[in-house]
Amino acid sequence: MTVAPASAQVPQLDSLRMLTDLSVLAHDSMAGRGVGTLGGLRARAFLERAMAGTGARPPGDGYTQAFNWPRGTGANLVGLVPGRDLDADVIVLTAHYDHEGVRGGDIYNGADDNASGTAAALEITRQLVAAPLEHTIVVALLDAEEEGSWGARALLDRPPVLRERIALNVNLDMVARTDGVLWAAGAYHTPALRPILEAVATSAPVKLQLGHDRPGAPEGDDWTQSSDHSVFHDAGIPFVYFGVEDHADYHRPTDDFERIDPAEYLASVRTILMALRALDRALPLGEPAPG
Ligand SMILES: [Zn+2]
Repeated sequence: MTVAPASAQVPQLDSLRMLTDLSVLAHDSMAGRGVGTLGGLRARAFLERAMAGTGARPPGDGYTQAFNWPRGTGANLVGLVPGRDLDADVIVLTAHYDHEGVRGGDIYNGADDNASGTAAALEITRQLVAAPLEHTIVVALLDAEEEGSWGARALLDRPPVLRERIALNVNLDMVARTDGVLWAAGAYHTPALRPILEAVATSAPVKLQLGHDRPGAPEGDDWTQSSDHSVFHDAGIPFVYFGVEDHADYHRPTDDFERIDPAEYLASVRTILMALRALDRALPLGEPAPG
């Protein structure tokens, strides 16, 4: 009997539960999840329950990490999934849940941006609680990304584990509408990531492409500063950012649940979980390259 290498095993997920979470977050009743708005508070309440339901542990009194930003307050939802080796470094899995709210009477539901990454992070958390990795995972559903990554900054200012123990950030932002290609950015800055991600790509259920991380690339082509992973990068922490190319509904009121292809989304999240497991096996990474 031959056993497939672990990297070749495509994980199963509860796709119905994940799609339901996505549809709730992207529902009109969440009013585009603007920071500090009624819709944003609804999303926060929903996610707090969902985080508790994953079985992840609250890092302190609860899952909510409130913070101030220039126009009010925001809140991250943070959970811990202890690894098999409690002395090992930590991976921080992030996905922002806020979006543009309501503008000019239009609701910006942000189904892909980033209900998709938020629902994926919840489902991945459930899988990791059931089968822990070697490394402890901090799962952080972040607020106020659209306003300048205030939630990510609050998380790194007051991390739930010692800052020095954070070995890697894996950030999910727009992971549903792949159109067949999921991008993984970050290996340019941390070359040790490249062989790990390339190995995942050989058996991933979606085309996993490395790139969008080179400084000096044409405008918009380098995604190093495009989402919450930038805060980790600027703090010298390696990151892998998973995301898709901008599409016609990007930051438009038409970024709706109905435009998401469930099979495409599922393939993307399975790939991300494969990558997370591969990264877990590969840590610690080599030193990051300068720049
Ligand atoms: Zn986003």
